[in-house]
Formats: sequence, C-alpha cells, structure tokens
Amino acid sequence: GLSGKLQDTFKKLRGKGKLTEKDIKEATREIKLALLEADVNFKVVKKFVADINERSMGAEVLKSLTPGQQVIKIVKDEMTRLLGEKPVKLDYASKGLTGLMLVGLQGAGKTTTAGKLANHMKKDGKKVLLVACDVYRPAAVKQLQVVGKQVDAEVYSDETSKDPVQIAKDGFRFAREHFFDVVLYDTAGRLQIDETLMEELAKIKEEVAPDHIVLNIDAMTGQEAVQVAETFNEKIDLTGVILTKLDGDTRGGAALSVSAVTGKPILFAGMGEKLTDLEIFYPDRMASRILGMGDVLSFIEKAQADFDEEKAKEQMDKFRKQTYTLEDFKEQLLQMKSMGSFKDIIDMMPGANKKALKGMDFDDKEFARSEAIINSMTKNERIQPNIINASRRKRIAAGSGTRVQDVNKLLKGFEQSKKMMKQLSGLNNKKHGKMKFP
Ligand code: GDP
Ligand code: MG
Repeated sequence: GLSGKLQDTFKKLRGKGKLTEKDIKEATREIKLALLEADVNFKVVKKFVADINERSMGAEVLKSLTPGQQVIKIVKDEMTRLLGEKPVKLDYASKGLTGLMLVGLQGAGKTTTAGKLANHMKKDGKKVLLVACDVYRPAAVKQLQVVGKQVDAEVYSDETSKDPVQIAKDGFRFAREHFFDVVLYDTAGRLQIDETLMEELAKIKEEVAPDHIVLNIDAMTGQEAVQVAETFNEKIDLTGVILTKLDGDTRGGAALSVSAVTGKPILFAGMGEKLTDLEIFYPDRMASRILGMGDVLSFIEKAQADFDEEKAKEQMDKFRKQTYTLEDFKEQLLQMKSMGSFKDIIDMMPGANKKALKGMDFDDKEFARSEAIINSMTKNERIQPNIINASRRKRIAAGSGTRVQDVNKLLKGFEQSKKMMKQLSGLNNKKHGKMKFP
C-alpha cells in the first residue's frame, strides 16, 4: 500500500549507523582544541563539549558523512543555536522615544559604536541624539562630537558637569523635548570591571530606563570575556551584545563565551574603524569562524547542499503540532499527488537511497481510490477513525464505489502513517538556554 511504500523509503533513508562513544571521543578532542585555540573560555568549552557528547551519543550518521564529520555537524548546529540561530533585529519602542545605553570596558568600542548605530538608525528614518556620559576619559566628549558630526547626529553634552547620571537624565529630557526618536547613551568604561563603574551604570539605568542595554565587547577578548559579560549582565541586566573589532584576524571565541553565559543575543558585529563598518550578526557564519574547520565544514555543507532543511523542518513541525487525522492524511495524499513534493524532499535528503525512490511512483488510481474513500466518510469519522466499525465500513465502501477490503487497507495505511509521523517528529530539538557556571 501507499504508506507501506513510504515507510520502506524512510527506513532506507536511515543512515549507515549510529555514533559510538569512540567516534565521539575522537571528534570532540579535535573540537576542544579548536575552541580553545579560538580563545573560547575554558569553562564554556568544557560544558559545551559535555553537551555535545550527550547529544551525539547514538545519533544517526548520514550516509554521505563519516562519523567524525557527523559530530562536527552536530557541533556546528549546536554552536549556531547557542549563538542565537538567526540574526536578531534591534527593535524600537512601539511609540515615543527609544533609549539605548552602551556599556563595556574601556576601548571596547562604545563611542565608535554609538556613531555606527546612529548612522544605522538614521537609515531607518530615525532622529538620533547621542549623549556624552563619559566624564572621565580626557577628550571623550570631543570624540563623541567628532563622531556625531561624521554621521550628522546631534550630541548632548555638559562639560561643566562631572556627574554622568545627571548628564544622562538631562540628555533624556532634551531628547524628549526635542522629539528625537532614539537616544544613545555613550557611557564610560574602565580597564577592568570595578564596583564604582557598575554602580554608576546601574544609577543611569534607573534614571533613564533605557529600552536596550547593550554590552560592547572586543572580539579579541580572551578568557576573561566570560567574567566581563557575566558581571555586566548580573549588575545591569543586558538586553544584547555588540561584538566589536571582528575585522581582525581573531577567530572570535568571545562570541561563544558571551552567548553561553548571558543567553542574550548578539545584535551586530563591528567590522572596522569607519562608522559604516557595522554588520548584522549571523550566528551561522560565526560558528564556522570559531570552529575554523573550513574544509570540513564546506564539505559537510556540500554534502547536504540541495537539502532544503527549512522545508523538511516545516513539515515535521506540522506533524508534531497537529493531532493527525484522516483529514491530514488526505491532505498529504493530495499534496503528494499534485506536487510530488514529498518525493522531492526525500530526493534531496543527503544519504537518500535513490533506488528506493523508484518504488515511489504512486499510481493515480490508488490516489483516486484513497481520496474517494475518505470523501465518503463523515467529519466525525475522519477525526475519530476508531468509531469506524463494520457497518460504517460497508457504508463507506458502497459510497465510494470500492470494496470493504479497500477501506480496511486505507485505514491500516492511515494508522501506519500516523505512527511513522510520530516517530519522525520525535527526532527532537532540545532547547538551550543560559548556562550557569559554579
Ligand atoms: P570606547 O572606549 O569603548 O568608547 O572605545 P572607542 O570607541 O573609543 O574605540 C576604541 C578603539 O577601537 C578606537 O581606536 C576605535 O577606532 C577602535 N574600534 C572600535 N570599533 C572597532 C571595530 O569594529 N574594528 C576596529 N578595527 N577598530 C574598532
Ligand atoms: Mg568612549
């Protein structure tokens, strides 16, 4: 029958075996080194590798990959997920003024990024005010004024004041009174985290209640990225991160460290000293860069080049969410008939046994018969097939011009298909949140 054929095909699609402890051990040794080389914090590496071990154990190996490549694929996917999966858009307040506070260590790139953001937001048609809250670093105000001039954004400063909290408050009021759309607070940093700075930032936050508190972190930051991110996040609860100086030759392991400890999205990457050098952050590309296994990764990508993962996932999600009924079964049959889409998807799967597809040229008669049988059922019967007893089967057969045994066959096929969908959608995606370190 129809779904029997489907089931066979799926069986044949299965890879060449499952990952063993030895496979995983070998591959993760290599991965650990790559991560440490990329300067990912060692605690993050330890936790990450442990997670991967757990996830990989017993996972299927795609036909086109070696076990080692399969582990790397799992690592790459997991890292992408940890880095946020998809680019995140910086959103504006639904009405009125949007406040954004830039924080970070000295030299992290806050003032430069303030200019970059102003430039970016102006393209969104926003009127942006820059507020100079760094009263410590000599010429900090001047620097912001130069930046503001370059991007044609107004700067609020008060060189007679040494009180950054007051300046932030005044800047906020000025922005509101002059109908700015966005106010960016350029705050002071220190060479190292200190209590006084944190208190000052917490006070500014309290006074101006910004919508966003964005940590700037230099992509070259090594092991200490974890502590920096953790402290800022604990003291002032970040909403996002901007990774600066990613134009350098660093692998950028700091990105993973920061994502792992804060769980906050990385919004942009600074790609140079110019005020136009701000790019949207792509988790997928960052994961490749951190892993640094260019050749292996491009091989893996090629191996699944035509496999439209999105499409397959979408289908799985549908199967997972819906309570699968005969209506859905019919829908699926129709879909297969009209587009051959299901066959196409299978065809594109890496490791698909192309020979198995030969058996999948469903004949139109079988489709028509199946459709007629389902059409002859009442709505209740379609939703609760278990009520279809012998006398109902007789009625349905008569109504559809088929035999009772055809109805039986269809119902059996439906049950099998239901089971199969359940199994397939059980290939679960674990959700990952914030990691905590002792
Ligand atoms: P702040 O102390 O956090 O305000 O940092 P600054 O904005 O003053 O930047 C410190 C230095 O880093 C300056 O020389 C900037 O030009 C440089 N910088 C900032 N962002 C980037 C970037 O994305 N790429 C590069 N190459 N340099 C950057
Ligand atoms: Mg500065």
